[in-house]
Amino acid sequence: MKNRLTALIVLAVAIAANAFAASAQTETVSVSDPEGITTVTVGTDNGKAWYSISHGEKLNLPASRLGLMTNAFDWTSVELKGMEKEEVGIDYTMNRTKASKVSHSASKGTVTFENPKGEKLYVEFVVSRNDVAFRYRLPKEGETGSVRVMDELTEFNFPEGDDVVSYLTPQSDAMIGWKRTKPSYEEYYGVAKPLSEKSQYGHGYTFPCLFKVGENGWVLVSETGVDGSYCGSRLSDSRFDHNKGTYSYKIEYPMPEENNGNGTSEPGIALPGTTPWRTVTLGEDLAPIVETTVAWDVVEPLYETAHDYKFGKGTWSWIVWQDASINYEDQCRYIDLAAAMNFQYVLVDNWWDTNIGRERIADLVAYARSKGIDVFLWYSSSGWWNDIEQGPINVMSNPISRKKEMRWMHELGVKGIKVDFFGGDKQETMRHYEAILSDADDNGLMCIFHGCTLPRGWEKMYPNYVGSEAVRASENLVFSQYECNQEAQAACLHPFIRNTVGSMEFGGCFMNEKLSKNNQRGTTRRTTDVFQIATCVLFQNPIQNFALAPNNLEDAPEVCLDFLREVPTTWDETRYIDGLPGEHVALARRSGDTWYIAAINATEQTKEYKVADMMAELKGRDVRIYEGGNSPVIREVEAKKLGKATVSVPQNDGVVIVFKAE
Ligand code: CA
Repeated sequence: MKNRLTALIVLAVAIAANAFAASAQTETVSVSDPEGITTVTVGTDNGKAWYSISHGEKLNLPASRLGLMTNAFDWTSVELKGMEKEEVGIDYTMNRTKASKVSHSASKGTVTFENPKGEKLYVEFVVSRNDVAFRYRLPKEGETGSVRVMDELTEFNFPEGDDVVSYLTPQSDAMIGWKRTKPSYEEYYGVAKPLSEKSQYGHGYTFPCLFKVGENGWVLVSETGVDGSYCGSRLSDSRFDHNKGTYSYKIEYPMPEENNGNGTSEPGIALPGTTPWRTVTLGEDLAPIVETTVAWDVVEPLYETAHDYKFGKGTWSWIVWQDASINYEDQCRYIDLAAAMNFQYVLVDNWWDTNIGRERIADLVAYARSKGIDVFLWYSSSGWWNDIEQGPINVMSNPISRKKEMRWMHELGVKGIKVDFFGGDKQETMRHYEAILSDADDNGLMCIFHGCTLPRGWEKMYPNYVGSEAVRASENLVFSQYECNQEAQAACLHPFIRNTVGSMEFGGCFMNEKLSKNNQRGTTRRTTDVFQIATCVLFQNPIQNFALAPNNLEDAPEVCLDFLREVPTTWDETRYIDGLPGEHVALARRSGDTWYIAAINATEQTKEYKVADMMAELKGRDVRIYEGGNSPVIREVEAKKLGKATVSVPQNDGVVIVFKAE
């Protein structure tokens, strides 16, 4: 295994001209992963740069445009000059995602293009067995020290076909929704839609974007390494090319209307500089999608921390008890609940500045710490970009007030913040996320974001980053019966899409049947108790703020409460077992030497599994099975009897199987 870092071997510095081709337009270069499974080919067609990707025998993504237009340089028409190749080791550890140790080798191909003025543009491709990451690198060759990127031609193209379908969530209009805070990555997904379908708002789709290319395989498109030096991007609506029979999705930058029109859509970069990485994950089945680590493979930590951040579990009163619970007495009850559950954190949500006040927050933190619980405090991101009144407002948006506030929190012993309602992907907003993260780390504070963009490699880039909402999260189950009716389908999407590339602060696991205070009124949960605990394994965030309420200590099954006390929130390894997005899912996650398998089902057809077949390599271990829907029970099965053990998962139900450490 060539997995040591900096195993740099220059393999070729030449154009691999196709001597048998009739046309000069067929001059191409290519780079394959070390096993030769995935190949990226790059060429030009009448000055138009393109790349294509093949994976295995059958999965082929057709030629897709490359190119940049900046306010200083025009790289929309270029000549291909060559490709330099080297082998690189991808070798690192993480402490807060779906995998703790990543080690594999990849091939890096750096393509040189030159425009008619002789100005060079580089495109770097990092090709692993199932992942391609690529970015543009802009040199500084003259006086020009900075550019604005006015347009990016990058496309992701797919072949047409009745069985080629998408799983996408639209970008919303800007400045709509609650207090004009959108877009915030909280839209519905289209499930197995034809590529010809247009997006709900006409603004294309937010990352990550999943495609099924018929029987040939699955493709996930996303991006990573976005920090304050660029904007977040998205995919356009599809455009059909009748000559080529392909659907094109183009990279789009933020809409001008985002953030109340403040800040530019077009990112500025200092030269020399790079764009973020765009990523394509390819697999014959969904395993490479569920298991991918590409979001972290190609990024590096942006600063070192002096702090030892601990992940774990928390309670938050707001999700079930809502705004009325943000008072001193109710927060003490949720601190007591966290302590009774052996959790580590309590999240005090919006309005604490008015309804508790800063002086009594000091008392509350002291009370929490006397119970062994640490505190997260909520803030609005605002700001001059929305109408949010929920306090505290206008603290995080100003560096002077932000730093003063964070020093105050540090003195009190507050351990983290949840910052809400960002509403945009402009570079200006990415700078805001980064400024909050950087200042927070100076004060030993972890950061959760809600009403926000997708994290793009942030678990590795920012040592104090915890997780982001960026999904139609648990609050919608409280707000709407429709969402409860659709809960199972939505939950069967996230392990294949949203949660594959970044931590997902879903805030779920309800034990109430009625999603309101005291379990009497409100929306009705359609999924079972075991379904709920299965989502604690299926949904990954390094701190899980569960939707428990104090009454659950009396009315929820002890089997479930005990499971929540022990379930890990960070994982050493993740494996796909079975499933189809929006229908059903079964996956396995390892913590130490213990494997947790969780399965849920949204379809009418009950899913049946032979337990021994789900993780064949684990035979010889005793297992504990959580099953029984709303009357949950534990079934212990000894290793020697595992061969005959089966589980069944009806609609809206789930199962959790724990393969105990040997
Ligand atoms: Ca939200």
